[in-house]
Amino acid sequence: MIKIENLHKSYKMGSNSLHVLKGINFSVEEGELVAIMGSSGSGKSTLLNILGMLDELDEGSYTLDGVPIKDLNETKAANYRNKFLGFVFQSFNLINYKSALENVALPLYYQRVKRKERQEKALKYLDQVGLKEWATHLPSELSGGQKQRVAIARAMAAEPKVLLADEPTGALDSTTSYEVMNLIQKINDQGNTILIVTHEEDIAHMCKRIVHLKDGVIVEDKKVKQVRVAQNVQ
Ligand code: ADP
Ligand code: MG
Repeated sequence: MIKIENLHKSYKMGSNSLHVLKGINFSVEEGELVAIMGSSGSGKSTLLNILGMLDELDEGSYTLDGVPIKDLNETKAANYRNKFLGFVFQSFNLINYKSALENVALPLYYQRVKRKERQEKALKYLDQVGLKEWATHLPSELSGGQKQRVAIARAMAAEPKVLLADEPTGALDSTTSYEVMNLIQKINDQGNTILIVTHEEDIAHMCKRIVHLKDGVIVEDKKVKQVRVAQNVQ
């Protein structure tokens, strides 16, 4: 699904350059649930943004679902991004003046899905995250955990091949974090490929594989026995 070889990325600032990713080799098969760990500044978000085609690599190669991602023009890149990738962020990134349903339906609008189908699909995905009853509510009327579940429904509604989440539980308390991880495990159970950036050890162990970044290189990449959330809460 994902294959990265000898990936390098630097940020240029004036005459200075910060070498953030220094030769990453990394593959992800369909259906994996991978945690990307590492201390602050180790390059986790940079890696996720490159995987998400939100940023470009300097050196190396990236293949996503058999497609070499390199030198694509803006339109092509945007098309692949919409078709292949779903994003979830720490800060939810919901639109404040739109209801939960409208937030979930928005990416479908950009995919030119017809209005009626948009509504139906959005409601279906809100239902999957347990928030059908909250469809008409604004983000300000939802708890942090509910907001993140709306954001996950929004990402999933576009039916991406890969879901990328940058510290999705970073702004949540641990009970709410587990609720979000329970949902992520369920989505992964359905066969979806998911990558999560986290610096929390317990969250990482709810995944099936942990990749450790340090100073721009992978220092550890191991399969782990997945801790199921449902057994810990409720
Ligand atoms: P992490 O997500 O692991 O905390 P990041 O990938 O966000 O790390 O950042 C890695 C390093 O790159 C940090 O030192 C950060 O300050 C720097 N960095 C991140 N984004 C940019 C940018 N757009 N311009 C310049 N430097 C950046
Ligand atoms: Mg980060």
